[in-house]
Amino acid sequence: MSFESLGLAPFLLRALAEQGYDTPTPIQEQAIPLALEGRDLLAGAQTGTGKTAAFGLPLLQHLGTSPQVVGNGPRKPRVLVLAPTRELATQVHDSLRSYSKYLRIPSAVIYGGVGMGNQLDVLRRGVDLLVACPGRLIDHLERRSIDLSGIEILVLDEADRMLDMGFLPSIKRILAKLPRQNRQTLLFSATFAEPIKELALEFMRNPVQIQVTPKNTVAETITHRVHPVDTARKRDLLLHLLAEDSRVQTLVFAKTKHGSDKLALFLEKSGIKTAAIHGNKSQGQRLRALGDFKAGRVTVLVATDIAARGIDINELPKVINYDLPMVAEDYVHRIGRTGRNGATGEAISLVAQEDAKYLRQIVRLLGKDMDISDVPGFVPQTPIRWGNSAPGKAEVAGGERPPRRGNGGNAPRPAGGRGRGHEGSGRGRGDAQPGQRRSAGGASAHAGQPGSPRGERREGAARSGQRTSAPRGRSSGNGGNRGPRTAG
Ligand code: AMP
Repeated sequence: MSFESLGLAPFLLRALAEQGYDTPTPIQEQAIPLALEGRDLLAGAQTGTGKTAAFGLPLLQHLGTSPQVVGNGPRKPRVLVLAPTRELATQVHDSLRSYSKYLRIPSAVIYGGVGMGNQLDVLRRGVDLLVACPGRLIDHLERRSIDLSGIEILVLDEADRMLDMGFLPSIKRILAKLPRQNRQTLLFSATFAEPIKELALEFMRNPVQIQVTPKNTVAETITHRVHPVDTARKRDLLLHLLAEDSRVQTLVFAKTKHGSDKLALFLEKSGIKTAAIHGNKSQGQRLRALGDFKAGRVTVLVATDIAARGIDINELPKVINYDLPMVAEDYVHRIGRTGRNGATGEAISLVAQEDAKYLRQIVRLLGKDMDISDVPGFVPQTPIRWGNSAPGKAEVAGGERPPRRGNGGNAPRPAGGRGRGHEGSGRGRGDAQPGQRRSAGGASAHAGQPGSPRGERREGAARSGQRTSAPRGRSSGNGGNRGPRTAG
């Protein structure tokens, strides 16, 4: 399949070739022809799938080929793209500018947290294409600095996130200002919860639904690793992991803005070039941090979920969840930044006792293996209790590990599966009965075969008829987690 065969105009094909795009991604293959026909689309696609070009190319083609109906008044925007965050809005705008290199399309990006002056100037001069965050767009509507009555195409990008962020009332107010007749609406969302479907029913015309990745799946090329750790030692463990290869660009997720700042400062003081982005940073600071990270001037970017939403960094090799997200879907969004376009990626989660419940939810959502492995030197003093996956189900193995004493729990444990809480050896609440599956969240969070970077080989789970995912006898010299995984 080529871009030519999708019906795109030469002025777009030329720009795409210059970007190095030679084959459309699956979402582009599906969305572009339908959008060019003028159909409304309900598209299930997350960041990293090429969704920006999937909606961007058809709307640019529309602007480039169908002339504006010229009235007497000032130029009114013809296409509106709504995006949840400033970063995403800026990124979408930048992408659209690059795809429309051979067109003259006046455009603007509009978001809050910056002065109104420049935006007012641009809007006064008139644009065809407007990319905006809902909050600031409402401000402009209230000031009457923008007239949306000429919108021909509306795109809702990351609609699920906009709703999560409480933008539904703003979106409805904006929709009320758009023409209902002859408007095309393209809605892109990673998930389709009920409110999104209602929105679609209310404001779209017989939309075609397309989906590229089944809901909540992650790229198969990503390795998921979980390291149990005491809360108090998380920072040091993070530093240890980062120091293993200090050149690898790593995105680190933290729960709070304050926590991100503290962590970034700690890493910076420890000699790792780090930047932080979160909602309390000014727009300039956020863009600078992102730019520094993309350009490799900093190796680590510490981010909160909202600030990181939609960040587009090609082929990011590693994402570390310093804190697990409270909402399991956010795990999918977070690690969607690695393993793109078939590249391999690593998703590492540091899990203290208070995070165990979130891990269960994530495993349940993904329905995927998670290798849980101790890092020598950072084994929790009190074993993590993983909790019941579901009523009547066994706890994850390792749940009743005795606290290790004497060596601080840090010495490499002997091979043979005896050293670590007797996974699979049939004790306490952590047991699985013969034939039972050890899992977290009803799926397969496997605690069975931790690896250790010291290269010891550990076996011994999967006795008594339990199934674990860890391939037996796998060498853990590479961290123990890269071996083939089996469904649990
Ligand atoms: P998106 O899902 O829109 O955030 O896009 C993810 C990344 O894939 C961006 O860096 C795009 O530049 C890139 N991309 C999008 N479409 C293609 C394509 N057809 N070929 C190669 N790269 C692409």
